[in-house]
Amino acid sequence: MGDGPSETVGQLLRAARDRLGARSESAGLDAELLLAAALGKPRSFLYAWPDHVPTASVRERFDHALTDRLEGQPVAYTLGVREFFGLELAVSPAVLIPRPDTELLVEHAVAHIDAGHAVADLGTGSGAIALAVAHERPGARVLATDASPAALAVARANARRLDLRVDLVAGDWCAPLADASVDCLLCNPPYIAEGDPHLAALSAEPASALVSGRDGLDALRAIVAQAPRVLRPGGRIVLEHGFEQAAAVRALLAEAGFRDIDSERDLGGHERISFGRLRD
Ligand code: GLN
Repeated sequence: MGDGPSETVGQLLRAARDRLGARSESAGLDAELLLAAALGKPRSFLYAWPDHVPTASVRERFDHALTDRLEGQPVAYTLGVREFFGLELAVSPAVLIPRPDTELLVEHAVAHIDAGHAVADLGTGSGAIALAVAHERPGARVLATDASPAALAVARANARRLDLRVDLVAGDWCAPLADASVDCLLCNPPYIAEGDPHLAALSAEPASALVSGRDGLDALRAIVAQAPRVLRPGGRIVLEHGFEQAAAVRALLAEAGFRDIDSERDLGGHERISFGRLRD
């Protein structure tokens, strides 16, 4: 990396940006987030004190973080946190890093969730969806399932640090849920097809949270098939899916007895969530 022990914040950032440039589309932002974390300061410190000369141990931490990033580690895993729907969530390689796309699912869901509703988030991972709903709708009862004990531990720690009430239960998708007990079923399942070239850039994240069979629809098929058992009549399902899967998910929902089926586009203009209501 840099040449001397006297490099300033500004010089370190420039060198890091160049070094990360080939690897990351967000090299400048990555460099800033990692240097601020190594310094134990907010990002604004970097703009306020470009001539500050970090200590050797800060430089060493920063250099390690840059090496990890160059080897494909997402910045969120290095920082150990990621913001989602205004909440700071702890993340580790046991869970998918929450994406802005999934905020669309939360926004759509909370518009239909009232006090007293029972909401379930399937495959909660870090707890992102469940915790955002619990935060937005304190009167709702929120349950979340995950098959991974390591993921549940992350979600539990997040519930504690945010002081939000979510009932976390171990198990596959709807398996832990009682019959006709849920008003609103939410899920961001794995939906990438095996062998999809996008997976190369996602190799640090758990494959079980990303990949789902030859067409990416295995989990969505299982969830839609299970949903009518756990939803109350008229209950709502909201599912995230891949940008080319909306028509397939709408067809699955229709086949399973849902009505008022539709999809919504994400900020990139892709149909990203589909939803419907169980027949009464
Ligand atoms: N939206 C994620 C991505 O493509 C995938 C998340 C998922 O499979 N649920 O990066």
